[in-house]
Amino acid sequence: MFKNRNTVLAVGILAIFILIISQVIIIKGVWVQKDEMLLLRYRSLSQEAASSVWFQRSFDPYDTVRLMLNSYSDMIVPEVFNTTDTAKRALMLRDLNDYFLAVLNQEQDFSEYLSAYFERMGFEKNFKHRIIIKNLEIIDNYDTISIVRDDSFFRGRGGQNPPPNINKSSILVSRPWLSDNYYNMNFEYFIDFSDKKKMILGEISASITLSLLSVVIVMIMFIITYKNLMKEKKLSDLKTDFINNMTHELKTPLATITVAGKTLELEKVRKNDEMLLNTAQLIGKQSVHLNQLINMILEISMWERTQFEINMKETDVFGLVDDIINGFKNGAGKNATINTNLNFDSAKAQLDNVYFTTLINNLLSNAVKYCDQEPVIDIEGKIDAEQFIVSISDNGIGINKNDLKHVFDKFYRVSGGNIHKYKGLGLGLYYVKKIAEAHGGDVTVSSKIGKGSTFTITIPLIKS
Ligand code: ADP
Repeated sequence: MFKNRNTVLAVGILAIFILIISQVIIIKGVWVQKDEMLLLRYRSLSQEAASSVWFQRSFDPYDTVRLMLNSYSDMIVPEVFNTTDTAKRALMLRDLNDYFLAVLNQEQDFSEYLSAYFERMGFEKNFKHRIIIKNLEIIDNYDTISIVRDDSFFRGRGGQNPPPNINKSSILVSRPWLSDNYYNMNFEYFIDFSDKKKMILGEISASITLSLLSVVIVMIMFIITYKNLMKEKKLSDLKTDFINNMTHELKTPLATITVAGKTLELEKVRKNDEMLLNTAQLIGKQSVHLNQLINMILEISMWERTQFEINMKETDVFGLVDDIINGFKNGAGKNATINTNLNFDSAKAQLDNVYFTTLINNLLSNAVKYCDQEPVIDIEGKIDAEQFIVSISDNGIGINKNDLKHVFDKFYRVSGGNIHKYKGLGLGLYYVKKIAEAHGGDVTVSSKIGKGSTFTITIPLIKS
């Protein structure tokens, strides 16, 4: 069974693990697909936008750029050609390149146009742009100096793939050519959606939620099923313990009766009146005990099938509780010190006298049974609002916190299993709880290991 339980746990966890992995794979697939679709959509959209620019003759997205570059080159380029110092010239060329790049990056009429176009079409309008100069040369009277020259640009015109140093989800939108008297330039204009992740997430949030939900539901179902399995296993263990204990409990009086029977066969015993009487009394006592055990088991199994039926009648609380305690003092509690403090006045309650007696007796005999020293039992009785309370405290072995939760469970015994130091069936407190509840009341327990326990019964009073 134990092995079985671990297998169930392992298989369950493995199944959940596989489910999670498969969900992650599916979501990843959807993500990639969405990502590609998004790229495709913006690629065609931006190209649409770019080409629409050329149809609008009145709008030139690079007119500011042109103006700035033209005047700058008019001023600088002749000077470059006049410089003979190569180091100085190289420096000037670098400055020129930087200036061109800066102007292209700052004057963003085209980006604004694109953004407005996306918004008009109902798409995300925020993106980053990137400009790469592919060819830049300066010209002076047929003399040319090349500052940037990317041969692949001229070879592979029309290619859509962004160069390796650019994010692969960047979109190449246009490849403008600008030129004037002193320069000639080609560049590429890319856009890149920084909010792309958020956009995709928005689009597939439903699938992610459903996946998460399915995983959570499966996990919850698994936990519930596993817990139920554990509960059943525990109950079956308790039942096994119970059968072992019951066998032991029933065997003891039976063995005594058998021995007594054999004793009676002896002529010596039969002829001795006193011995005969003692043996007969022993048989009688053990039969009563046996009968009590069997009745208890029968009753409990009967309660399981039908609603617990008790026969309650109006009873003077003090009278009954006092009788029970006195009866106990003269019987099983002979060796215990019993202190009582009962303040019930003339309170009356609906009680089944037989069951209520059993309830108190069970608690009192446990107080004696689960005690490793001279038992001292304090019984306190009082009235609180519309109920009466009896608390029974002992100086016994106590019950630890974990067991305390279960002592009222059917068949539950502390110290588990078949340890017979303290005899019992694990039914006494179950019975106590059932009786208290049948009276509309309850029973609770508090305990400290090694110090003792206190059981408190509350039962409603008859309203006067
Ligand atoms: P049983 O006495 O037949 O084992 P009970 O239902 O009466 O069954 O008690 C359940 C368990 O609670 C006992 O096995 C015992 O360990 C613990 N218990 C009950 N009463 C006391 C007590 N007064 N002090 C310490 N332990 C107790």
